[in-house]
Amino acid sequence: MSLQEFDYVVVGGGASGCAVAGRLSEDPNVSVCLLEAGGSDNTVFVRAPLGFAATPHLKLNTWGYNTVPQAGFTNGRQGYQPRGKVMGGSSSVNAMVYTRGNPKDYDRWAEHNPGWSYQDVLPLFKRSENNECFGATEYRGVGGPLNVAYLRSPSPLNEAFIQACADQGIPRNPDYNAAKQFGVSPAQVTQKTGERWNAARAYIDPRRSQPNLTVITGAHTSRVLLDGKRATGVEYLQGGQTLQVKAKREVILSGGAYGSPQLLMLSGIGPSEHLRQHGIAVQHELPGVGQNLQDHITTVLIYRTSRWQDTIGTSLRGAWALLKAIFEWRGKRTGWITTNVAETQGFISTEGNPDYPNIQLAFCTSIIDDHTRKPHLGHGYTLHVTLMRPKSRGTVKLASANPTDAPLIDPAYFSHPDDMTDLIKGTQMGFDIMESKGLAPYRGKMLYPLERNNVAQIEAFLRQNSDTEYHPVSTCKMGPASDPFAVVDATLRVHGIANLRVVDASIMPNLITGNTNAPSMMIGEKAADLIRAGT
Ligand SMILES: Cc1cc2nc3c(=O)[nH]c(=O)nc-3n(C[C@H](O)[C@H](O)[C@H](O)COP(=O)(O)OP(=O)(O)OC[C@H]3O[C@@H](n4cnc5c(N)ncnc54)[C@H](O)[C@@H]3O)c2cc1C
Repeated sequence: MSLQEFDYVVVGGGASGCAVAGRLSEDPNVSVCLLEAGGSDNTVFVRAPLGFAATPHLKLNTWGYNTVPQAGFTNGRQGYQPRGKVMGGSSSVNAMVYTRGNPKDYDRWAEHNPGWSYQDVLPLFKRSENNECFGATEYRGVGGPLNVAYLRSPSPLNEAFIQACADQGIPRNPDYNAAKQFGVSPAQVTQKTGERWNAARAYIDPRRSQPNLTVITGAHTSRVLLDGKRATGVEYLQGGQTLQVKAKREVILSGGAYGSPQLLMLSGIGPSEHLRQHGIAVQHELPGVGQNLQDHITTVLIYRTSRWQDTIGTSLRGAWALLKAIFEWRGKRTGWITTNVAETQGFISTEGNPDYPNIQLAFCTSIIDDHTRKPHLGHGYTLHVTLMRPKSRGTVKLASANPTDAPLIDPAYFSHPDDMTDLIKGTQMGFDIMESKGLAPYRGKMLYPLERNNVAQIEAFLRQNSDTEYHPVSTCKMGPASDPFAVVDATLRVHGIANLRVVDASIMPNLITGNTNAPSMMIGEKAADLIRAGT
């Protein structure tokens, strides 16, 4: 058994893990080790933006989880739960949409967690980005590691969608990450010069040559090493061997909303009854580990179109266009390969509350049926309608004490009746947009026709077709010790265990109103500040 020792050991090279490890390693006097279960992100499937479309088919760079059967879905259908397993984590397989959420999201977090209000976190968002769209403003930053840009070669179809939104009274919003979210806009994406800009490129690659930063890939961490109630390092599996690294100062878990609670439970930290069921010795009772799971549920409204030039589709002409696009990307880093597919983003409200939208729209220039796992011949476009603050709460549990077994993921979609009511209203609003004049030149048949006012039919459709928008959070939620379900405090330290923090999307007390990649990096930035300040 080899033994290495570092000041900080960070488990998980995803959005948050890269941010915290990168920032901590800025101090040449501390040593940082980053352990990642997956491999290198230096592949065309990560670098080429459209490469992520291959993830579900080739099962590339992903843990490829599914949910347990969902009572809220037709016939207990199981949902799909891809999570990145590669340097950069899910930021290497995601749709690159850069959203921060609504200021009220963070003010709600701060009600129980001092230091996390919007005014507290805004400087971190600004510090983390290099914004090409707007430059430095009251809300936006330049000079940070994360490049944020507009798509280089957006489809003309987006303007038709924006016009269709205008037909429904939804205005164009210059920047949904600034003064207000409400409205519709071209997507801001984590790309640079036509390539994906994931967390590893942002935070780790510039420091690769630093002697105080060690990155170990293919390292599947199996448990946290404890000396009583103090973390001292971690054990990991690599190439058939069991190895250890020691942490002189702290162990930081950044395994994501499923990886981090799984690791805590494998280490004997969690709900004691559940741990005993799997023969795991309880080191510290913490009932909230793996509880409070929240995920954005989305549905898709898909239309066919004859405009093959403006959409990615399955046809001879489409295949030829894609082939040409590959050469264009290789030569100039422009064209279709730079698409994130979800090219236009909108925030609307079913409650008539433009200050705090509860539905996100993502307009996609392709047919996206069952995460593209259900193929269709021909061309089309898709509107994702996503519920932003679902009330359903689920769990992630251990399937066994074997660290390589997938956890049992139960988002309990639609277990709260308001989620169905709100998503039906959102679907109707999405339908109205898709049927508006602005899209008339493009509109073909709806793939799964709906009658706008047939609520029973829409509900059946949602139970048959809804699934994740890929944003699981809150399974190690942040909160005060007085909250029995809080796992970490406002400094991200695990309650009751010294020298152990969780730093990733799992600490969010509640889902934010938007995609979760930028907030996860912000959490990494914040953690680095807290650690450096000795809090
Ligand atoms: C398909 C998809 C599309 C998405 N689209 C968007 C989008 O367009 N915009 C957006 O903002 N967000 C998007 N997201 C969500 C966003 O990417 C995540 O919320 C964010 O990456 C979460 O960051 P994290 O650090 O918590 O976890 P991750 O980025 O998932 O990182 C966790 C890391 O820990 C590693 N790990 C886990 N367990 C272990 C272990 N035992 N040992 C070692 N390593 C381990 C994993 O391999 C992974 O690298 C998408 C996600 C997916 C999957």
